[in-house]
Amino acid sequence: MTDRSPATRVVFLGGLGRSGTTLLERLLGQLPGVAPLGEVVHLWARGVLAGEPCGCGRPFPDCPFWRGVGERAFGGWPPALAERMLSLRHRVDRTRRIPRIGHPDLGEYVRAFRRVYEAAGAPVVIDSSKHASLAYCLAESGVRVHVVHVVRAPQAVAHSWRKTVARPEDGRPMTRWGAARTALHWTAQNLAFDRLPAPVTRVRYEDLLAAPRATLTALATTLGLEPDLSFLDGPTAHLTTAHTASGNPMRFTVGPVELARDDAWHSALPRRHRRLVTALTWPLSTRYGYGGAAA
Ligand SMILES: [Zn+2]
Repeated sequence: MTDRSPATRVVFLGGLGRSGTTLLERLLGQLPGVAPLGEVVHLWARGVLAGEPCGCGRPFPDCPFWRGVGERAFGGWPPALAERMLSLRHRVDRTRRIPRIGHPDLGEYVRAFRRVYEAAGAPVVIDSSKHASLAYCLAESGVRVHVVHVVRAPQAVAHSWRKTVARPEDGRPMTRWGAARTALHWTAQNLAFDRLPAPVTRVRYEDLLAAPRATLTALATTLGLEPDLSFLDGPTAHLTTAHTASGNPMRFTVGPVELARDDAWHSALPRRHRRLVTALTWPLSTRYGYGGAAA
């Protein structure tokens, strides 16, 4: 596979973690001609080096999909390549570097992502890596990328980051953040999507859950995808296996899933945390339509 292959289109799902990017990836991944790859940014450490499970449940080295991708893209998955990508990421793919154009290592870093996308063998791939910095690197290097920026009420995101959740991959607890830290990340990560040299379409988690069919139809049309929503049956989505390299625990779910908003924060997030998050995320939260009702 060379860089002169017909360009694969990349739908990049961005936003702060716990905003619904994994759910949206699973839903868009059901559309014809779309291959959901998960958080490709973590493929090198978690898939290639640690051998964590693919979304199909098999360890990454044993998944036939990823074995094929590796063969076509790099003649296999050499650990040295993964180490190199981690080192390049540290130098190139940082939020604070977003305005900096022309880093000497940018081309090498993006070339590996491009090869993964092209080797997936689908006209459109989804990368749910989330970070605006990677979307920036891809767009800046000429990858055909359309960013879908997923936002969710900051109070709900703060509640989710406070919870103790075990990673299905290894049973260890997922990272936890306090409310103030989440609020600061919420603003910084979301603002970073204002500065991308690529088309950006914003989707609110709440709108997706309130009206999945209408929201997905509009989004698919914007992205140039066939809006075949036969996997949706009222509020139920029927999910098939997705070979996602990394992501939140929902990537392993197969079968019927009820699309219902998780509003547990209304009762579970202490009032003082709620007030803190509301204060720290204003005024950006009002720009996304999260007014007094969400607070
Ligand atoms: Zn797999």
